[in-house]
Amino acid sequence: MELVRTFQEARNRHLGTVALVPTMGFFHEGHLALMKSARSTADTVVVSIFVNPLQFNDPADLDRYPRDLERDFVMAEASGVNVMFAPPLEEMFANPPTTRVVVGAVADRMEGPRRPGHFDGVATVVAKLFAGLQPHSAYFGRKDAQQLVVVKSLVDDLSFPVTVIPHSTVRESDGLALSSRNVFLSPDDRPGALLLSKGLLAAAALAESGQRRAEVLKEAVRSTLTPLEVEYVELASQDRADVLEELDKPAFLAAAVRVGSVRLIDNVALDVIGGEVVADRGIRLEKPSVLYNQGPSDAAPV
Ligand code: AMP
Repeated sequence: MELVRTFQEARNRHLGTVALVPTMGFFHEGHLALMKSARSTADTVVVSIFVNPLQFNDPADLDRYPRDLERDFVMAEASGVNVMFAPPLEEMFANPPTTRVVVGAVADRMEGPRRPGHFDGVATVVAKLFAGLQPHSAYFGRKDAQQLVVVKSLVDDLSFPVTVIPHSTVRESDGLALSSRNVFLSPDDRPGALLLSKGLLAAAALAESGQRRAEVLKEAVRSTLTPLEVEYVELASQDRADVLEELDKPAFLAAAVRVGSVRLIDNVALDVIGGEVVADRGIRLEKPSVLYNQGPSDAAPV
């Protein structure tokens, strides 16, 4: 595997079909699952690492975001990645950018209003990665369900010739969705953090057994989250991220909470297969993830 810093260097290493896995680094098994899926479908797998300042609304969150390029290099190489693209800020934004992507109504609910400018920042950087790296396909996690809708809309609206491939959420054996920010959870935070997946999975079981009313499903989540500071619980469509009253099309049930100093998001996709609702409960690890052994103090700035 080669580490490259410019779009040109990355493109020079493309052979055959190219799959891109865009990330902000500090890898865990969720990222690695995306890389391994990409490996099984494309000739060249490129993973990008860029902690995108445009998508952080809280400068403290940007500052403390875990970074460790050497650690990431070893993990990506072992997952069959060919090219690691880790551009410096100047490669992404040589001059202060005057052109940006503005995301439409898909950003109006849930994460959008709580993180102003976040999805515009995500879409701007994803558009740059698509234009600069010219992948045939790009892998995104269902963990960030609304982001997935934003990226699919970006591709449709601006006609990027890229196939977006979603990947199920990878979870700890206890159900907690993997996230690089989990390194900030203290042992005392863990029981509270677990309630998020617990509530969502309980509601998913209700949906599978025929419950279609959003209010009932959301209440099942809320009642589990009672001890936590809850930002939102919503049922939204997979195609436009519209908030739904009834589960009458492919949807996702999503929630955001605060546990200790950490903001956590999670969701369960409710797919409709042959007229039946089928929940994507994600993939459970059998043993603790790499994040469990990695405290925030191990995450050195690049
Ligand atoms: P991030 O580095 O957090 O921006 O994530 C990079 C990509 O990995 C995004 O497409 C995420 O949705 C995906 N991802 C993050 N966590 C998980 C997870 N637990 N399972 C599956 N995909 C994930």
